[in-house]
Amino acid sequence: GKKVLIVYAHQEPKSFNGSLLKIAVEELTKQGCSVTVSDLYAMQFEPRATRNDIVGRLHNSEAFNYGVETWEAYKRGALSKDLVEEQKKVQEADLLIFQFPLFWFNMPAILKGWMDRVLVQGFAYDLSKAYDGGLLQGKLCLFSFTTGGSKETYATRGDIRYLLWPMQHGIMHFCGVKVLEPHICYAPENVSDEKRKEMLTAWTQRLKTLWKEEPIDCSPEWYFK
Ligand code: FAD
Ligand code: ZN
Repeated sequence: GKKVLIVYAHQEPKSFNGSLLKIAVEELTKQGCSVTVSDLYAMQFEPRATRNDIVGRLHNSEAFNYGVETWEAYKRGALSKDLVEEQKKVQEADLLIFQFPLFWFNMPAILKGWMDRVLVQGFAYDLSKAYDGGLLQGKLCLFSFTTGGSKETYATRGDIRYLLWPMQHGIMHFCGVKVLEPHICYAPENVSDEKRKEMLTAWTQRLKTLWKEEPIDCSPEWYFK
């Protein structure tokens, strides 16, 4: 079976995001996938990129450079334990699902912190190994998120794809990961219970045929055309 890592960023299990997570775990497990969840708030995941991410001596203790220090620490096996654990989960996964509520046209800080800290140079990308040549080649990802704004608002005020550029292209594609169509549940707080149930069913349905999907063409045209 395929291996799936779900990186989940919501504080409340009873939330709509919590329900989407539960569905994904159940449906993918039912398909025979082995599913791992990084429940970032429950783990009290540290989002800050600091000196604490390097165990022992620094490469250059005169002037701290987070990118250089984590790269060097990765090479000598001196990254902090929580990072090594997340990297191991990423390494083993065929598919990464990110499940979160949209915060300020972006992912919540705790999830951004996961990206900042886990996707270390040498592990996820390297000098000449980026985009299609990124070190996480062969993996798929899917951004599944909820919004406060309605579908209509997003359709009239500008395309939601603009805000996916940094996440899908700037992070995942940069690391060599292929991107599946995002899954967006608009305004779960402001729709009827019936509509909410419909959105949850749609997610279950999508997951049933997920492994047959082709990745998007993650190029500027997809986002800005
Ligand atoms: P919830 O409030 O948990 O869920 C909605 C409803 O669904 C609840 O009544 C819940 O009980 C119900 N529910 C849960 N499970 C089920 C189930 N199984 N069946 C039926 N009903 C169920 N929005 C934007 O559009 N753009 C932004 O830039 C943006 N920035 C934000 C910044 C911040 C700091 C914050 C706090 C919010 C922001 N929002 C923004 C809004 C945010 O994206 C939404 O509040 C969020 O996506 C809603 O998802 P939720 O899981 O928290 O919903
Ligand atoms: Zn891209």
